[in-house]
Amino acid sequence: MTGYQWSHADRGIFSDEHHAFRETVRRFYAKEVEPNVAQWETAGIFDRDLFRRAGAAGLLCPGIPEEYGGDGGDLLHHVICYEEHGYSIGGASLGEGIDTDTSAYMILAAGTEEQKRYWLPRYASGEVVAEGAFTEPHSGSDMGSIRTTAVRDGGQYVINGSKTWITNASHLDMCLLVARTNDEGEAPQLSLFLVETRLPGVSRGKALRTLHRGCGNLGELFFENVRVPAHRSPFASHADGDVRDATHDGAESALMRACGSPRRRPVPGVRHRMAAYIHVSVMQ
Ligand SMILES: Cc1cc2nc3c(=O)[nH]c(=O)nc-3n(C[C@H](O)[C@H](O)[C@H](O)COP(=O)(O)OP(=O)(O)OC[C@H]3O[C@@H](n4cnc5c(N)ncnc54)[C@H](O)[C@@H]3O)c2cc1C
Repeated sequence: MTGYQWSHADRGIFSDEHHAFRETVRRFYAKEVEPNVAQWETAGIFDRDLFRRAGAAGLLCPGIPEEYGGDGGDLLHHVICYEEHGYSIGGASLGEGIDTDTSAYMILAAGTEEQKRYWLPRYASGEVVAEGAFTEPHSGSDMGSIRTTAVRDGGQYVINGSKTWITNASHLDMCLLVARTNDEGEAPQLSLFLVETRLPGVSRGKALRTLHRGCGNLGELFFENVRVPAHRSPFASHADGDVRDATHDGAESALMRACGSPRRRPVPGVRHRMAAYIHVSVMQ
């Protein structure tokens, strides 16, 4: 056990069910993470199987509705996961660790019914490891400068480009990739694509080491003429139009619902609305 004494009960926002869930999460870190950290640090990476064990313990997708394989909880279940991750000595070493939230909530917010039913139960069980893939070597907060392209070719999109600082890169089975669907120099039209890493043309680069990560797993992804069916884009029907608004509005409103926020929060100083979505998700 990690030995911290701070009382979460005093905050008054957690129900008895939340407290019981916290005990489950805490036990998971004590049993499954902390005894293994030293070994994982030596290897430079934690076990892929940690996702399956976390899924079996109910730690993945606790706020995703039950009909999609989640536990039907709320935002506070995710807060508890992040808090316990932070309290655990192993959490710091894992970095983002068993994160699934970013891309799971995008699928929940804006994926098709078929995509939600296929992917979200697999996230929840740990069968699939997935992440958002937005950042490029020259494009962080400002997603308007993304250079990765997705060019329509009949019933497919052909993706070319690269992403960096991707969490759990070595373990990824799929990423939710942001690419531009028009030429550079024009106002960017961005869309999200579900790209499985087993597809021809997807490769991984070197592991990126950071000061705070002992066995975390940040890396690069490269895409060379990767073909994905057009229906793999959650926003395929908007892909020839202004996908930014469709993407942002769908994702943000669902995020707001998930977070129980009564209104939108404008994000000043962010040029592109997709970037605003990402920032809102972090600010919540
Ligand atoms: C641990 C870790 C995990 C990550 N995992 C992923 C992942 O899984 N997928 C992924 O796609 N990316 C991931 N990233 C990358 C992350 O999304 C980027 O680092 C982030 O978008 C910021 O980009 P940047 O580092 O290029 O900083 P920049 O965008 O260059 O920003 C540099 C500084 O300028 C400030 N700034 C930027 N724009 C403005 C503005 N308009 N107004 C005022 N200030 C501004 C920023 O706040 C920051 O302080 C990860 C990064 C880390 C550190």
